Amino acid sequence: MFLNNSSLNTSSSLNQASIRHDWTIEEVNDLFEMPFNDLMFQAQTIHRQNFDPNQVQVSTLLSIKTGACPEDCKYCPQSARYDTGLEKERLMEIDKVILRAQEAKQAGSTRFCMGAAWRNPRDRDMPYVTEMVKEVKKLGLETCMTLGMLTGDQAVSLKQAGLDYYNHNLDTSPEFYGDIITTRTYQDRLDTLANVRSSGMNVCSGGIVGMGETTSDRSSLLVQLANLEYQPESVPINMLVKVKGTPMENVEDLDYFEFIRTIAIARIMMPKSYVRLSAGREAMNEQMQAMCFLAGANSIFYGCKLLTTSNPETHEDVTLFKKLGINSAQTRDYSDEAHEAALLEEIEDKSSDSLFYDASSKQTETADI
Ligand code: SF4
Repeated sequence: MFLNNSSLNTSSSLNQASIRHDWTIEEVNDLFEMPFNDLMFQAQTIHRQNFDPNQVQVSTLLSIKTGACPEDCKYCPQSARYDTGLEKERLMEIDKVILRAQEAKQAGSTRFCMGAAWRNPRDRDMPYVTEMVKEVKKLGLETCMTLGMLTGDQAVSLKQAGLDYYNHNLDTSPEFYGDIITTRTYQDRLDTLANVRSSGMNVCSGGIVGMGETTSDRSSLLVQLANLEYQPESVPINMLVKVKGTPMENVEDLDYFEFIRTIAIARIMMPKSYVRLSAGREAMNEQMQAMCFLAGANSIFYGCKLLTTSNPETHEDVTLFKKLGINSAQTRDYSDEAHEAALLEEIEDKSSDSLFYDASSKQTETADI
């Protein structure tokens, strides 16, 4: 079941004329070779043509199901294959998710992202996740989920529940991909992105740098993203967080200037996308983050956890925003306040005996838990 092209969000459809989809790796390699100041000037110029340079969109990310993932992504502490000491958690109950969404809203987030360490959601998980979307949406937040691979029908169910964004990263270049993940193919990822796009949801897709890839791999990843029929509305650029126990724990550090260049080039190639400064931000000092904003990053995650790795404390972000004169972008508030008040009352009344839905007790398949 797919929605037709007319249901694609209008921002994607309207903006295609000014966006290129014919980038080549060689051309992007040349951008990586440009003098740094020239590259930054070009990126900032394009940024200013498309966005308010002093606005940064703020999202909060909550892990709604942690660890025990059957996939083998070599950077990920949530894979069941690596001993990282990560505490596993079953699918979180909806009440608890709502409380966390409330906190995120109070902290200034405009979008609430929910992530589950799954290969893909099973059909019996769908009623729970769609309910979460509906409830978070009632709080007046934009919603985003990352649940692994999606079928076309699952994407449509999420869209119908009101999900605004679906995150599914390409991670790296097609050429380097086999060195990082073997349990799903690059094409699987592209298929999920196509299913999300066809459903009418906004696409959030980016990658991770600093995994030992070459500059040409970084170019190739950006070419894949930019040359999609509709560029992703949101492009997270992650710096690898080296987690002990994963195969990537000792990989060589990427030069920070190369990371800033990657942000700048993403901005140039995807001028109307929100480029998100994502994982790895905790290790970056204020000046480094400021350079990323200057390069065109205009979205961050707030809060102290990025799924399972740490993130700067919210007050540090507020301090940095103040120093830079950056204010969180405001989205329209579509909450029904009366409903919200009733919802909060209901949450307060509920006992918190059972905050987790026991997925394992209902399990009949084992592959994706
Ligand atoms: S699919 Fe997601 S949660 Fe699972 S190992 Fe890969 S990155 Fe981690």
